[in-house]
Parts: sequence; structure tokens; C-alpha cells
Amino acid sequence: MFSTPDFCGSIGNTPLIRLNRLSELTGCEILGKAEFLNPGGSVKDRAALGIVEDAERKGLLRPGGTIVEGTAGNTGIGLALVGNSKGYKSIIVIPDSQAPEKMELLRNMGAEVRPVPPAPYSEPGNYNHIAKRVAEETGNAFWANQFDNTANADFHFKTTGPEIWRQTRGEVSAFVTAIGTGGTLAGVSGFLKSQKSETRTVCVDPFGAAMWSWFAHGHLDFDDGDSIAEGIGQGRVTDNVAKAEVDAAFRVHDRHMMCILKHLTQCEGLFLGPSSGINVGGAVKVALDGGPGQVIVTILCDTAQKYMSRLFDPDWLTENDLPPENLTVEVMIEEMRAEA
Ligand code: PMP
Repeated sequence: MFSTPDFCGSIGNTPLIRLNRLSELTGCEILGKAEFLNPGGSVKDRAALGIVEDAERKGLLRPGGTIVEGTAGNTGIGLALVGNSKGYKSIIVIPDSQAPEKMELLRNMGAEVRPVPPAPYSEPGNYNHIAKRVAEETGNAFWANQFDNTANADFHFKTTGPEIWRQTRGEVSAFVTAIGTGGTLAGVSGFLKSQKSETRTVCVDPFGAAMWSWFAHGHLDFDDGDSIAEGIGQGRVTDNVAKAEVDAAFRVHDRHMMCILKHLTQCEGLFLGPSSGINVGGAVKVALDGGPGQVIVTILCDTAQKYMSRLFDPDWLTENDLPPENLTVEVMIEEMRAEA
């Protein structure tokens, strides 16, 4: 007899992909963990499964129950699909500023989608607070609370971290990723440090977020600029962020992110979304900062498919201060060197 994993069993164990040209240009091994190959299409399948299994163990999620979450999209997709495969309904509260593709996907997957106007975390109309209230008002419902539920980071500690360790035979010298909830960075940094404390763990931030400020300066005051990247860009120290062990932090401009996305598509065969571009930009910065010979791992979070109506619309990009330009990765690397 053989046994084949079901949907939930197919989450994780993603390949580690060498980024050939960026590795050559920097003299480092730059490796991307192909999280876009998870069955729900993103790194957030892991958080969804980790949170649901934890809630089942604790008796917080009972048969026929409803999972409620505030999410920019990918966690919602993960929760909806994990929920479908285990017999739970899902209600997803999403800021209406997010790419329309994601809401369409969620609806077609069977989730009940409740778009709400964007509001800061400090206001009761913020999508997370609304999700909490919806869960309280719905019978037999569980609020996933991905930002402050550390079952999120724990699942990365148990799976993503050990996979990276195994796939690099313990030779990983640096890990870098951006923060949405902080679950990926906290879990992976914690595991890699537990194996080898010298492993360098790095946060990369888009502009307009405060995590670079937090890790590089110890306060949340620098949140200047803006980014079109969705799913990352945190302004507060979530319970998952608080668990992250971080040695350094960098910021990556959206211009460089766009250059990387084009390069990854045209030269590496990887058609990826904005947060992956920020992450790979972070890996290049780690390479330039620490010099050649490093083995640097980052996360390839999801594909460009969910963002096509924006990423490939020159008018939308121009309105968002990203007029199309012909920047090569070689010139981008020189610009990054000059920024350091
Ligand atoms: N990239 C994308 C596309 C995401 O949806 C998310 C999660 N919101 C992240 C990166 C960040 O992952 P984490 O929540 O583990 O920090």
C-alpha cells in the first residue's frame, strides 16, 4: 500500500530555487523558497494550516464551525481552502483597497467575503477588529487572528525552518524576508538560530512600513514613503513580530522591486508578486552588505497572477509613482551599493 498526502498534507516541502543571475552578480548563493507552489498558491497556506490545527487541538474550532479572519487575501485563500478540505465555512474581512483578483478568488472558492474600507489599526473600523467582532457575533466561529496568534510563527518553526536547514545542508548563512504578520520571519529565524546561532537573520521592509525602523532603530517612527506591495508592510509589533530574532534590517524601493520582478520573469522563469520582489531585493542587499560567499535564503511568496491588473497596467503604475523604466539588475545593484 502507498499513502498520498491530501490537500493539507501537501502544504510545505516546497523546492528551494537558485536565482542564477543574481547569484553570479553578487558572488553569493541566492536561493528562493518556492512558497508560491503551495496548493493554495502562497506562503500563507502554512499559517492557515498551523492556526487551524492549533485551534482544533485546543477545542476552539469545532466540527461544522466557521473560520473568520481579517486578511489582505492570501491568508484568506489558505484558510478558505484548508477550511473546505476539513469541513469548515469561512468569512473573510478584507480591506477594499486590495487587488480585485483576490476578492474574486475568495468568493469563487466559497468564502463569504466582506470588503471594508481601509482604516488604521487604532480605529474600530480596522479589518482585524471587525473580523474579531464578526467571530464573536457568529455561532460556532473561530477568529484566526494571524497577526497575534503565534501558532502562525510556530508552524514556520516546525516546517519552513527545518526545510531550509535540510535543503542547504545547514550551510545557510543568512535568511531574509519581509513582514506581514511576522510569522515567517519569527518562525524561520527562531529555528535557524536554534541550529546555528551565527545564522544572520534579516528583515527587509518596503517603504511606508515601520519594521525597518523597529529592528534598525528600536522605534516605529520611520515609516516614510509608500509601496504597492500587498501582504507586507507592518506598522506595529505584532505578537509574531515580537518573537522574531533579527540581526539587521534593510529597506527596498518599489523601483528596485519592479526591476527584480521583471528580471525574475525574463531571466529566471519566475513570475512572482511584489512581496517576492522586495524579498529578493533584501537578499541582494544582504549579499552586498556581507560580501561574497554567503548562502542567502529568502521567500518567494506568491505569483504575479493575483496582481496582473496593477503590475502590468502602465497607467496604474504611473499613478502610483512607478512609471515604467528600463532599469537593469546590474544598474540596480550599483544603485543599491550607493545607498549602503
Ligand atoms: N507576501 C505576501 C504576498 C503575503 O500575503 C504575506 C502575508 N500577509 C507575506 C508576504 C508576509 O508573510 P508573514 O505574514 O508571514 O509575515
